[in-house]
Amino acid sequence: DRQQHTRNFSIVAHIDHGKSTLADRILELTDTVSKREMKNQLLDSMDLERERGITIKLNAVELHYQAKDGETYIFHLIDTPGHVDFTYEVSRSLAACEGAVLVVDAAQGVEAQTLANVYLALDDDLEILPVINKIDLPSAQPEVVKQEIEDVIGLDGDDAVCTSAKTGMGVDELLEKIVQEVPAPSGDLEAPLKALIFDSIYDDYRGVVLSVRVVDGTVKAGDRIKLMNSGAEYEVTEVGVNSPKPLKRDILIAGDVGYITASIKDIQDTRVGDTVTNADHPTDKPLAGYREMNPMVYAGLYPTDNAKYNDLREALEKLQLNDAALEFEPETSQALGFGFRCGFLGLLHMDVIQERLEREFNMDLITTAPSVTYDVELTNGEHKQVSNPSEMPEVSAIREINEPVVKATIMVPNDYVGPVMELCQRKRGVFDTMEYLDDSRVNVIYHIPLSEIIFDFFDKLKSGTRGYASLDYELDGYRPSDLVKIDILLNSDKVDALSFISHRQFAQERARVITRKLKDIIPRQNFEIPIQAAIGAKIISRTNIKAYRKDVTARIHTGDPDRRAKLLDKQKRGKKRMKAVGTVEVPQAAFMAVLKTD
Ligand code: GDP
Ligand code: MG
Repeated sequence: DRQQHTRNFSIVAHIDHGKSTLADRILELTDTVSKREMKNQLLDSMDLERERGITIKLNAVELHYQAKDGETYIFHLIDTPGHVDFTYEVSRSLAACEGAVLVVDAAQGVEAQTLANVYLALDDDLEILPVINKIDLPSAQPEVVKQEIEDVIGLDGDDAVCTSAKTGMGVDELLEKIVQEVPAPSGDLEAPLKALIFDSIYDDYRGVVLSVRVVDGTVKAGDRIKLMNSGAEYEVTEVGVNSPKPLKRDILIAGDVGYITASIKDIQDTRVGDTVTNADHPTDKPLAGYREMNPMVYAGLYPTDNAKYNDLREALEKLQLNDAALEFEPETSQALGFGFRCGFLGLLHMDVIQERLEREFNMDLITTAPSVTYDVELTNGEHKQVSNPSEMPEVSAIREINEPVVKATIMVPNDYVGPVMELCQRKRGVFDTMEYLDDSRVNVIYHIPLSEIIFDFFDKLKSGTRGYASLDYELDGYRPSDLVKIDILLNSDKVDALSFISHRQFAQERARVITRKLKDIIPRQNFEIPIQAAIGAKIISRTNIKAYRKDVTARIHTGDPDRRAKLLDKQKRGKKRMKAVGTVEVPQAAFMAVLKTD
C-alpha cells in the first residue's frame, strides 16, 4: 500500500529554466518547509551553489502530498543540476526514479540540455512530464514552446503543464499529474535487499552516509548489510529520509529513496553505483549500476604548503565520495612539488572541486592549467596517454599525436547559423550535419577537438549568438593532429607546471599571448625576471618583468607605521595561493593564463 502511494521523480531541465525554484514551490505547497524556513532555491544548500546561483549536486527530498482523491502520497523529489559538467548527477538521479519532470523555460524554449535530459530519461524508461515554466514572463510563448515540445522532443505538447515557479501558478496541477502519471515503484518487499547507491557523503560523526534507492526488500537499523562491489559488511546504525533535514525512519522498503548509515569509516569500501544487499540474505545479482565517467580534462592540484600533501589526499578521498566523477592520482612537479593529477568533467567541475577543497577541507591550493588526454604514438609503435603536457615525449620519439574530439550539437535559431559555423571552423571543427528541428531552429553538428571546446568555446558561442545558442557534446574518438608542446621558462628555468600543448598553427600567437599575460600576473620582485616560451630549444617568444625600483621598496619600509602594517597585511593575504617556483613567486592566476587565447 505504501508503494502504491509512492512517487519518485527527478526534476530535469536546461540550466536556469527553473528546476530549483519549482522544487521550492513544491516544498512550500506540501508544507514540507515552513514559511519561516523558506528561502529561494532552498535545495541549493551548499554556499557555493547559493553564491553562484547554480545547482551543483543532486538533492533528494521526501514530501507528503494530499491529493484531490483524498489520499496522501509520498513523493521523493530529486532536484538536479543543469550544466553539462554535472550530467552524471542527473543520470544517477534518474536511475532512482520512475518519472522525470522536464522543465522548459517558456521564453527560451527547448535547448540543448533539454534534449540531452530527455535522452537520459528515455534510457531509463522513465515517464516524462513536460512543464512549461516562467509563464508569468511577458516574453513567455507557451504556444510556441508547446509546438517545440512536439516537434523537437516528440512528446505531446498539449500534455505540458504551464507553471510559474515564481508565483506558484500551475504547480497544483503538476502535483496531481505526478500522482496520476508517474508509475508507483514496483519492487518486491519479500525479496532480499537490493538498494542502489546513487550518492554518498562523508560525515565526521556518522561516517559515510549512503543515498540509496531501495529496489527490492527492506532495510532497518541493526541489519547487517553488504556492499556488493567491495564485499565489505557493516551493521546499519540508522536509516532515514531527507525532508530536507535528515529524518530517522524505522525502515526503508522497496520503492523508497533515503539514506543508510553504518559507521562506514573506510572510504574505499563505498562506490556510487554499487548495490547494497543484506549480508545474511544476500541477493545473488547486483544491480547494473552506472557506467564509469571518463574525465574530460586533467589538472594538477598542489598544496601551497608542501607539508599539507597528506591532508590533500584525505580531502580528495572524502570529496570523491560526494563527487563520483572526480578522479585523482599522485603526481610530482619539479616546480610545485608533490600533488595530484585530477580528472574532471569540465572546467566548471574543476573550479567547483578546487573551491570545495578550499572551503570544506580548508586547503590552500594551486591548480595547474587543465589539459585533455593525448594519445601519443611513439616511433617504436607503442601508445602513451599523456594528460600532463610536461610528460609529452621528445619530438624525436613521437610518430603521431592524436587528440580527443567531441561531437558537438549546437542548437541555434536559424539567424545565427552563420556565426556558429564560423566559430566552429575557427576552432578546427569538421562539419557533420545540420538538422532542422522546426521552422525556426536547427541543430548544427560538428566534430571539434575537445581542447577547443573546453576552453573558451562556450563563451564565444554565447556572445556570438546573443545567448541564443546552447551546446551539448560527447566524446567521439581521437584524431591525428599537428600539435607541439610549448615550455615556459621563468628566469631561465623551465617551469613544468606551465607547459602546454598547442596546435602548431597557433603556437606562435599563443606563446606571445601567454608570456604577455604572465608578465601582468606575476608580481615584480627585486630582480628582473625574463619570461620565455620555447618549443624544444627554440625560443619563440620572450618578455621581461622589470625589477622593483629601489625607492619603492625603501618607502614601504620607512613610511607611516600604520600604512606599513596595512601593506604587510595585504602582502600576506596576497601570498595565499602563491607558490615559490625556483626564485620566483608565482600566483595561482599564472597557471590559468594558458586558458586565455586572446
Ligand atoms: P535551475 O537552474 O533550473 O535550477 O533554475 P533556478 O530555479 O535556479 O532559476 C533560475 C532563474 O530563473 C532564477 O533567477 C529564478 O528566480 C528564475 N525563475 C525560476 N522560475 C521562474 C518563473 O516561473 N518565473 C520567473 N519570472 N522567473 C523564474
Ligand atoms: Mg537548480
